[in-house]
Amino acid sequence: MLAVDVRDLHRGAVETVGQLAPQDEAFEGLGLALEGPVAVTGRLSQTGDHEFFWRAHLAGRVHGTCRRCLTAVTYPLDTDVEVLFSADPDAAEDPSVYPLVSPVTRVDVRPAVREEVALAVTDFPLCREDCAGLCLRCGADLNAGPCGCAALSD
Ligand SMILES: [Zn+2]
Ligand SMILES: [Zn+2]
Repeated sequence: MLAVDVRDLHRGAVETVGQLAPQDEAFEGLGLALEGPVAVTGRLSQTGDHEFFWRAHLAGRVHGTCRRCLTAVTYPLDTDVEVLFSADPDAAEDPSVYPLVSPVTRVDVRPAVREEVALAVTDFPLCREDCAGLCLRCGADLNAGPCGCAALSD
């Protein structure tokens, strides 16, 4: 469950476990290239009258392009999340707090999943840590071996 009834939260922390498919409306308009669903595991607890703390882990796989050699890569999305949901109008000013509409009947963590996934995939991936990239002069993939340019420039 990724949307939790506040009455359950009044009784204690609630496990938030679920999967969001790439086509889920939570990701609408982000233009993400998710390979499969994003797995959400977490725990939501009430920390104030109108305030809830969510600690979670998000995992999935993302399609991308190596920033050095432009090869297609699939890399893991793997991120820890700690966010606050609050219906307190004062907290609405704080960009790190997810606002809730009063009166709060349920806490839906999906807006936080959306944002955190978007943040996690903006990093430019590498096909591997030591990717040699492309030659700036001839465009050859230097992972396949040196091109002729180095010899020419000497
Ligand atoms: Zn590469
Ligand atoms: Zn070259």
